[in-house]
Amino acid sequence: MYDIIIAGAGTAGLSAAVYGARAGKRVLVLEKEVYGGQIMSASVVENYPGIRKISGYEFAQGLYEQAMEQGAEIKYEKVLEIQNSETYKTVHTSLSAYDSRTVILASGAKNRHLQVAREEELTGKGISYCATCDGAFYRGKDVAVVGGGNTALEDALFLSGYCRKVYLIHRRDQFRGEKRLQDSLREKEHVIWVLESHVAALNGTGYLESVTIEQEPDKGKKELAVSALFIAIGQEPDNQPFASLVELDAHGYIKAAEDCRTSAEGIFAAGDCRTKTVRQLTTAAADGAAAALAACAYIG
Ligand code: NAP
Repeated sequence: MYDIIIAGAGTAGLSAAVYGARAGKRVLVLEKEVYGGQIMSASVVENYPGIRKISGYEFAQGLYEQAMEQGAEIKYEKVLEIQNSETYKTVHTSLSAYDSRTVILASGAKNRHLQVAREEELTGKGISYCATCDGAFYRGKDVAVVGGGNTALEDALFLSGYCRKVYLIHRRDQFRGEKRLQDSLREKEHVIWVLESHVAALNGTGYLESVTIEQEPDKGKKELAVSALFIAIGQEPDNQPFASLVELDAHGYIKAAEDCRTSAEGIFAAGDCRTKTVRQLTTAAADGAAAALAACAYIG
């Protein structure tokens, strides 16, 4: 019997593991892929209080090691279902089943897709959702980034370091991402702004060769010859396995307030998977702490 099972080894989940293990609880983290979560694909993090500059990989590695050193366990198994009885919970995974007094859902969010024809077929063949993972394949080539948030701006900056041309495609004429990033991009002549534009088609035989852009307001079409399109249009939750366990909001996020308590007793939600207005590294870490301490209080 575990005290706390945590579903997801991103920043929220690993922070919860640090707090739970430090409180002397028996903690198991279940992760379907690799530990670290979304921050692993950030080339640099400059807004985590107290750390001036660190790569996303280094941050995640440090947090993982901290959780393991405190005594948390990790298993790489996908959570399929959670059964909630009054006294304990049973977490069914792709390989086994585990009993626990409490569960913290920290399933994060997955990359939003453009929903343009051939997106799935060309993923890994020019379509990517991670510039820091795949950008190096396109050294000296022309590439495009779509999106207007911090991720898209940071991706465009990162790619501008070694791609010949970087088109930055955004559906509006205003960016949601930080001004500081916009200013850095404006200084780069080989970053071309393609505003008020939608990606209408992905073209190429086998691999991506170009994207067709539809521009507002006249819906005029233009073709950009690119070897890669990096899609950075935000995230959406991945909470379907928990839909019958806890209440979700209209957008699929787990309903939970700052104390991370869900509609189900002894089940907590932390990080990007829960309802909240600000989804940042700092808020994910804060949620991990709040959820673990709430779980400890519940166990008593
Ligand atoms: P985001 O802030 O939600 O931005 C998503 C962008 O994609 C928006 O500009 C949105 O356009 C656009 N978009 C959404 N759906 C689209 C669609 N179907 N077609 C075309 N464009 C679409 O997502 P994010 O940039 O991934 O950032 C997520 C969170 O992480 C944010 O809170 C962000 O600040 C944070 N973050 C922080 C850092 C950092 O601080 N270093 C780095 C990365 C991310 P509209 O603007 O028109 O809605």
